[in-house]
Amino acid sequence: MNFSAEHQLFRKTVRDFVEHEIEPHVDQWEREGAFPAHELFPKLGALGLLGLEYDPSYGGQGADHSYTVVAGEELGRIGCGGVPMAISVQTNMATPSLHRFGTDELKRRYLAPAISGHMVTSIAVTEADAGSDVAALRTRAVRDGDEWVINGTKLYITNGAQADWLCLLARTSGDGGYQGMSQIVVPTDVEGFAVSRKLEKLGNWSSDTAELSFEDVRVPVANTIGEIGQGFQQQMAQFQNERMIAAYQAVGGAERALERTADYLKHREVFDRPLLANQHIQFTLAELAAELDMARHYNYACAEAYMRGEDTTRYATIAKLATGRLIRRVADTCIQYHGGIGYMEETWTSRYFRDSRLLSIGGGADEVMLRILARLDGLET
Ligand SMILES: Cc1cc2nc3c(=O)[nH]c(=O)nc-3n(C[C@H](O)[C@H](O)[C@H](O)COP(=O)(O)OP(=O)(O)OC[C@H]3O[C@@H](n4cnc5c(N)ncnc54)[C@H](O)[C@@H]3O)c2cc1C
Repeated sequence: MNFSAEHQLFRKTVRDFVEHEIEPHVDQWEREGAFPAHELFPKLGALGLLGLEYDPSYGGQGADHSYTVVAGEELGRIGCGGVPMAISVQTNMATPSLHRFGTDELKRRYLAPAISGHMVTSIAVTEADAGSDVAALRTRAVRDGDEWVINGTKLYITNGAQADWLCLLARTSGDGGYQGMSQIVVPTDVEGFAVSRKLEKLGNWSSDTAELSFEDVRVPVANTIGEIGQGFQQQMAQFQNERMIAAYQAVGGAERALERTADYLKHREVFDRPLLANQHIQFTLAELAAELDMARHYNYACAEAYMRGEDTTRYATIAKLATGRLIRRVADTCIQYHGGIGYMEETWTSRYFRDSRLLSIGGGADEVMLRILARLDGLET
C-alpha cells in the first residue's frame, strides 16, 4: 500500500479529531453506557469521515478504499472499543448495500443523512436463534400492496437504541435457507417498532446494544435495497466490508496498546530496574509487534485486492480471524505486565481486555470464519 503525503495529512486529521473530540469524553460515555451518536456523528460527517468511499452526489468523498484503511486504523486507537465499533456500523456495516444497490430516491432519503451524520443507522441481522447461522432467521416481511408488513425480533443490535433507520434483513418469501430474503430500510419512527431491551455487556459499554421488536411494522416496498430475494447474498457482500474495517481497527488499537505498555514498562521499576529491561518482556512485546506488522500488511493486501475490484472474501475472513485472535493475546499480555494496576478499572488495560474480546465473536465468530475458509479451500465434505 502506497500512502501519499495526502494520506499522512488525512491520518493526522483523524488522529487530532479523536484526541480533541472523542478521547476527552470516552470515560463518561463508558460510564453512561452510550455515547451521544446524534452529537458526534454530525461532527464526523462534517469532516467527511462517514462517507469516505461514497458517491459525492450523496455527500460522500469519492475517495478510494485506502482512506478507509487509514481511518480504520486511527479510529481503532480510540481508548475504547464501543465508539469505533458504532462509527464503523454507520460507515461499513449498515450502509454499503444501500450505496451499492439502493435506488437514487432511497439513497437521497437515507444514505445522504447517514453520510452527513444527521441520521444514525444500525445493521439488523442477528436474532436469538440466528447468529452464526444467518440463514435461520425468522423475521418476516409480507407484502401487502405497496407495503411490507414486518414481524419479528432482532438481537444484539449496535446503535439500536439510537438508530433513525435500520438495514434490516428479513424473509420476504416462503423459500427457506439462503433464498427469499431481502434487505429493507426500516425507519425507527414507524408504528409497531420498539426497542424492547437495552442490553448490558461485558465490554464496549459506550456503544448501545439493543433488542428490537417489529409488530406489523409497515414500510413501502420501495424501501427494499436492491433486488427482492437477494438480501442474503447482498448481506454476505456487506459482511466483507464489516470484517475488513474490524481488522483495520484492531491493528490500530493493538498498536496503541503495545506503545502504551512499552511506555509503562520503561518507567515501572521492579527488582531495582525497569520491567522493560527484562529480555523476556522485550522479546514478548517484539514478537507481538512483529505479528501485528504481519496483520497490518495482510490488511493492506486485502485492501489492495478490494481496490482492484476482486472478491475479498478469503482475505477479509482471514484478516478478521487473525486480528481477532491476535488482539486477545495483546490484551492479555498488556494486562499481565501491568500487574495489579492493570487489573484496576482506573487503568486503560482493563477496558481494552474486555473490549478486545468481542472481535472473535461479533460479525461472525472465529469458527464461522474457519467454516468459510474450509469451504473456500475445498475441505468441506
Ligand atoms: C456487542 C455485540 C454487538 C453486536 N452487534 C450486532 C449488530 O449490530 N447487528 C447484528 O446483526 N448482530 C450484531 N451482533 C451479533 C453477532 O454478530 C453474533 O453474536 C455472532 O454472529 C454470533 O452469533 P450468536 O451470538 O448467535 O452465537 P451462536 O451462533 O449461538 O454461536 C455460539 C458460538 O458457537 C461457535 N460456533 C458457531 N458455529 C460453529 C460451527 N459451525 N462450528 C463450531 N463452532 C461454532 C462460535 O464460537 C460461536 O461464538 C453483535 C453481538 C455482540 C456481542
